[in-house]
Amino acid sequence: MLAHALLKAVREGRLHPREVAEAYLERARRHAHLGAFLALNERVLEEAERVDREAPLAGLPVAVKDNLVTRDLPTTAGSRLLEGFFAPYEATAVRRLKEAGALVLGKTNLDEFAMGSSTEHSAFFPARNPFDPSRTPGGSSGGSAAAVSADLAPLALGSDTGGSIRQPAAYCGVYGLKPTYGRVSRYGLIAYASSLDQVGPLARSVRDLALLMDVLAGEDPLDATSLSAPSRFQKALEEPLPPLRLGVVKEALEGNTEGVSRALEGFLEVMGRLGARVKEVSWPGLSLALNAYYILAPAEASSNLARYDGTLFGVRKGGVEETRALFGLEAKRRILVGTFVLSSGYYEAFYGRAQAFRARLKREALALFSDLDALVLPTTPTPAFPLGAMKDPLAMYRQDLYTVAANLTGLPALSVPAGFEGGLPVGVQLMGPPLSDEALLRVALAFEEATDGAHLRTPLGEAF
Ligand code: GLN
Repeated sequence: MLAHALLKAVREGRLHPREVAEAYLERARRHAHLGAFLALNERVLEEAERVDREAPLAGLPVAVKDNLVTRDLPTTAGSRLLEGFFAPYEATAVRRLKEAGALVLGKTNLDEFAMGSSTEHSAFFPARNPFDPSRTPGGSSGGSAAAVSADLAPLALGSDTGGSIRQPAAYCGVYGLKPTYGRVSRYGLIAYASSLDQVGPLARSVRDLALLMDVLAGEDPLDATSLSAPSRFQKALEEPLPPLRLGVVKEALEGNTEGVSRALEGFLEVMGRLGARVKEVSWPGLSLALNAYYILAPAEASSNLARYDGTLFGVRKGGVEETRALFGLEAKRRILVGTFVLSSGYYEAFYGRAQAFRARLKREALALFSDLDALVLPTTPTPAFPLGAMKDPLAMYRQDLYTVAANLTGLPALSVPAGFEGGLPVGVQLMGPPLSDEALLRVALAFEEATDGAHLRTPLGEAF
């Protein structure tokens, strides 16, 4: 059962929240080999007894990425540096979920401090793809994507700095939304690259995403970058599909696997049948976005990670140097790159140029949206790769080729399950102008309905 159907069953008294929580907890334990969870909420059954059935997310279990701080469950961000850490406060996204009657089922696995595209940089263990456990579920929100895909949880939260919601969503055959920068509060999200980070939902249907977004989105006095735009996600889905103008990004058509190209063509064909006007457009900056991202993200990361010195919180082991030696290889690499591009001799050559490029990339995108409703491109160039296959860090970075542009520009982007290749899911990505989050979901719903959910598979069956 999808989350909205589950909610209805709870509301109508056909299912008790305790039964729901019990079933999901049991599935999460049974499929522990997927490495999706770093911690499970052992109190979830008690909490389920107290659920108000009228609440917007009454009794729905949600898997929460372990870089969102929680008071009652440990928060590690996938790092040895935060092993056993309990935050003294709750992330706004988590607080909003709880206030809406949702239950936190557990904290999900991720690449250390959300740096990576495979969950292999988790300090604890990698997460696995439910479609093929020898492969990655993607990253860094790999645990959340694996959990939703295997229906170990009907809904999940992730964070997306350069693709970490959308890429794992694509690899695991589920939906993942990176909202417009500022639509969801970042308060309590452990910072990776603050100007790029955004919290967002993963789910198995468009309606389920909307359900979660109506609760998550909104202004937060605790996050000065949060926006006051009203959220009307579920309402927008009831409206008729407007005449659509879609732009296929030329720069994203080469170098993809055959299955990825087929999924993209299939998506456009369906949308064309529904009356959309489709044209090929050029977004020249896209080909350089990855280079800029891998300068800017490490620059911000090197500054954000400076706080882990054993003084204020987290693990302390001997002196500062011994404590900081607990960072994994990838985090260390980012700190080195970040401090290098910010060093006085190289600042203008790297950081300064990348920032200027970032402005250009956004200008180009906004110009395209003057006569387009959305851009369409693959989420990733290939389906999920085998664990251990990406020995070269640059090869791993290339997985983010199509996703980082949305973070650099702040634009909303949604990964839609759109096909399979060799039994592995493939995603298509929709990107829209600022605050078009609802509109993107409306487009995805049209595709989902026209294809009768054909792109949704449940590799391990459903909880209900
Ligand atoms: N894979 C990208 C990186 O390693 C994006 C990660 C993310 O979005 N958190 O930085």
